[in-house]
Amino acid sequence: TVAEPVDLASSLGNTVTILRSKARARSIAVAIDVEPDLPAVRGFVGELNQVWANLIDNALDAVGEGGRVDVNVRRQRQRVTVSIVDNGPGIPPEIRARMFDPFFTTKPVGKGTGLGLDIVRRLLTHNDAEIDVESVPGRTEFCVALPLAETGT
Ligand code: ADP
Ligand code: MG
Repeated sequence: TVAEPVDLASSLGNTVTILRSKARARSIAVAIDVEPDLPAVRGFVGELNQVWANLIDNALDAVGEGGRVDVNVRRQRQRVTVSIVDNGPGIPPEIRARMFDPFFTTKPVGKGTGLGLDIVRRLLTHNDAEIDVESVPGRTEFCVALPLAETGT
């Protein structure tokens, strides 16, 4: 199979809809903001849906009761960025160094497999996408940059 044009508004919209009940149960506010007239990206929609689900699920686990998760989608030159921001405690440097490792988790037994970010990293490589993490206490951002479906001007 080859990568195809993906509409991120619907890809992310579907994922957020699925995770809204978990958010509501914990009184977490989830907001999604997609820039108007966003161009399609090139990728595998089923894989990208898995990436959003894993990153948003982690954000929901991080913030806890009354927290907030923001999803922002923006065009930046020949890329589209998807940024997932939470107001949780942040990721200490010693965890940041290991969190993409398979089976690394800080969650209680039965709550986390530690496979989420390992899968995210492998799927993003397959989609020619990159991920950046910025985290300070009170604010964590995972930012994914994806290639446009149509290149050129
Ligand atoms: P799991 O969610 O099963 O623990 P992941 O691979 O998805 O596995 O995440 C690994 C670890 O990375 C988490 O256990 C947590 O310690 C850390 N982590 C991931 N996302 C966040 C976040 N948004 N805020 C704080 N810590 C995070
Ligand atoms: Mg996870």
